[in-house]
Amino acid sequence: MGKLLEVKDLKVSFHTYAGEVQSVRGVSFDLDKGETLAIVGESGCGKTITSKSIMRLIPTPPGEIKSDSQILFEGKDILKMSDKELRDLRGEAISMIFQDPMTSLNPTMKIGNQIAESLIIHRGMNKKEALEEAIKMLKLVNIPNAEKRVEQYPHEFSGGMRQRAMIAIALACNPKVLIADEPTTALDVTIQAQIMDLIKELQNKLGTAVILITHDLGVVASVATRIQVMYAGKIIERGTTDEIFCNAKHPYTWALLQSVPRLDTKHKNKLYSIQGTPPDLLKPPVGCPFASRCEYCMQICKEEMPEVTKISDTHSVQCWLQHPLAPKVEAPIVAGGAE
Ligand code: SF4
Repeated sequence: MGKLLEVKDLKVSFHTYAGEVQSVRGVSFDLDKGETLAIVGESGCGKTITSKSIMRLIPTPPGEIKSDSQILFEGKDILKMSDKELRDLRGEAISMIFQDPMTSLNPTMKIGNQIAESLIIHRGMNKKEALEEAIKMLKLVNIPNAEKRVEQYPHEFSGGMRQRAMIAIALACNPKVLIADEPTTALDVTIQAQIMDLIKELQNKLGTAVILITHDLGVVASVATRIQVMYAGKIIERGTTDEIFCNAKHPYTWALLQSVPRLDTKHKNKLYSIQGTPPDLLKPPVGCPFASRCEYCMQICKEEMPEVTKISDTHSVQCWLQHPLAPKVEAPIVAGGAE
């Protein structure tokens, strides 16, 4: 059976006064029904641009999705869909939730009406049926007093409840794919955990596939089936969650893992932070994009982009350290704190 979603050689640029910024530089991956794929990396690595490309939400101009890119949903290229096909796709087949629900919810519209809207448009329900369904959706995302809450406005909801309401809107039409872009970043830690648990619970219940976009590897550990790490517009390592957490091969992934706080880290140890900044994608480097920040950098790293090395059927990495002639380097103890 074909994949639910296939992204093939996605390249996205932005045309600015300074020149062409190559934000996504040949990204390929796929997604199976019901699985959770995490895309992890610092801000500016291209993860959000990738997810917005799937929804065709890149403003063109200044954005440009290169013509040899393909994004296939159930075999059909999203990049070639008509406006009508796109309207049907968004919400009905693929939905997205964003970091800050306050900027996505309409402050002048009751929450119930915001959930009902997509049910009326996509499911052909009348207003009464759609509002009844909206109450069910609010109950599904564990909002108490759903019958009363459905009549309230976003400002009457707490931050966590607004994110739950966003999830209710996104899942109202039972989409096959949910893209969650930093869904918990604006929330405090306890609420973050509740929202991640909710996404996991709903995914099990509804069978929705999830693409989880985050800068924080700690958030994905208990939720993701597979992880791909993005840096400077490329996927530099991918694997199952176990492979990334227990056998990562790329120095950038090691650095991300060391940045995750852990309960067994001694309190006097400072949390690890990655020095330096990502390269300027106006002029992407010819060699490894992580070279200027990598403590294992060799001469060849600055001159040539490493090939993809397959570690297992599910695990691959793009780093010169995997070359047979490279010096053997032990992964640092990725203990979640500076040693
Ligand atoms: Fe570091 Fe070289 Fe590997 Fe890049 S290719 S991550 S610079 S060792």
